[in-house]
Amino acid sequence: MTDLTRLSAADLAAKLASREVSSVEATQAHLDRIAAVDGDVHAFLHVSEHALQAAADIDRRRAAGEELGPVAGVPLAIKDVLVTTDMPSTSGSRILEGYMSPYDATVVARSRAAGLVPLGKTNMDEFAMGSSTEHSAYGPTHNPWDLDRIPGGSGGGSAAAVAAFEAPLALGSDTGGSIRQPAHVTGTVGIKPTYGGVSRYGAIALASSLDQVGPVTRSVLDGGLLHDVIAGHDPHDSTSLDEAWPSFAAAAREGARGEVLKGLKVGVITELPDSGFQPGVSASFRASLDAMAAQGAEIVEISAPHFEYGVAAYYLILPAEASSNLAKFDSVRFGMRVNVPGGTVEDVMAATRDAGFGDEVKRRIILGTYALSAGYYDAYYGSAQKVRTLIQRDFTEAFEKVDVIATPTAPTTAFRLGEKIDDPLQMYLNDVTTIPANLAGVPGISIPSGLSADDGLPVGIQFLAPVREDARLYRVGAALEALLEDSWGGPLLDRAPKLGEVR
Ligand code: GLN
Repeated sequence: MTDLTRLSAADLAAKLASREVSSVEATQAHLDRIAAVDGDVHAFLHVSEHALQAAADIDRRRAAGEELGPVAGVPLAIKDVLVTTDMPSTSGSRILEGYMSPYDATVVARSRAAGLVPLGKTNMDEFAMGSSTEHSAYGPTHNPWDLDRIPGGSGGGSAAAVAAFEAPLALGSDTGGSIRQPAHVTGTVGIKPTYGGVSRYGAIALASSLDQVGPVTRSVLDGGLLHDVIAGHDPHDSTSLDEAWPSFAAAAREGARGEVLKGLKVGVITELPDSGFQPGVSASFRASLDAMAAQGAEIVEISAPHFEYGVAAYYLILPAEASSNLAKFDSVRFGMRVNVPGGTVEDVMAATRDAGFGDEVKRRIILGTYALSAGYYDAYYGSAQKVRTLIQRDFTEAFEKVDVIATPTAPTTAFRLGEKIDDPLQMYLNDVTTIPANLAGVPGISIPSGLSADDGLPVGIQFLAPVREDARLYRVGAALEALLEDSWGGPLLDRAPKLGEVR
């Protein structure tokens, strides 16, 4: 029998629809895989006790002849930033240990309604602050390609779960790159939708003007299938767009035929310094551009002079918003409370926040409250907002000349666990190419572009499109994916070491 964990979500869905396979069998196969490898990978913070029951329910409904959606019965991993009623939601933080939400995040509710089977909650940097998952209060996740390396962050758990074949689909969140950068270092696909395209209701807020929920998968088509489930207006999210989205799965299928590359104008940013990029990452990026050019794409140099200020602006705007969002963890309303005998309410709050938050969270709260304080507001937060506008203008001007912008998704391949943990600035510089999309609200996708010649580790290429043009990313991403997989003789992940044999 085929190993059900190796199938794409699209292929598994087809077998479920034809009743060749039941959802209980597919779910059990993934639970077995989790039991076998997650001791090494640590992608999951919690494995659902209800998965088989949810799967059995889908099987029963299918047997009764009920019309089910295209991905009904397919298992799904959920980043722990998304609240769920039937599993704890911690956002990777001690302060929310064991916290049970009274409601499901909209994306979770929509996933359940589509018949997806929640397998568990995935590990992440605390409150989604980080690029390596090392800031999780529950210990790091390990990269399935090399267990001594980081799986990216903050959504390293979702990316590693998908890369290690523990789940065919996962949900992530991307505030500055936390879906795309983990995809880059694990050889998977990650999509940050247009800001407002997917509901943030029930996504524990990091920086509300930057946060977006999106798909983490092994193929562009699978990303489209999941995006189709979660997209669309949500009255519970005041920034949700009231937009009739096209089918992203259909866009991926159309793109895989390849014609989209003929005459496609691909913008490459002149100001991106070659120097900050690992040679193997730059080489893989150029090879992907060459492959697209050979199919008739036109590579166009564009100028985005303010991109280089993105990281600086982001690390003011994000801490400012985060310090405000995290004020609700006050020992009264949510989660942990540290008792201080004879102490005041303030003493209890301070002791709880001291014990409940990790170093990176404290660092950003201090930075954020400072940037927002009277006398500094204009100099820091105000200036950062101006840079944000300039970056938005760079995008507007660029998209007058090109259809998509391409960059390497991140400057290096997966670094070693422990390598950057004591150097926050080095960690922040990881986000140089992903952050501008969040500042401008535009959609982005990262797909595997190959293995780096320097270390044999996965590299991703990122495409960015204008606001609301998410479908374009699926067309272009699927076209390049088909081209590259042809040249590799199959998906990149087929070349990942077999887990259990790596050490
Ligand atoms: N690495 C970025 C940060 O630390 C990205 C975070 C995210 O997208 N959630 O803020």
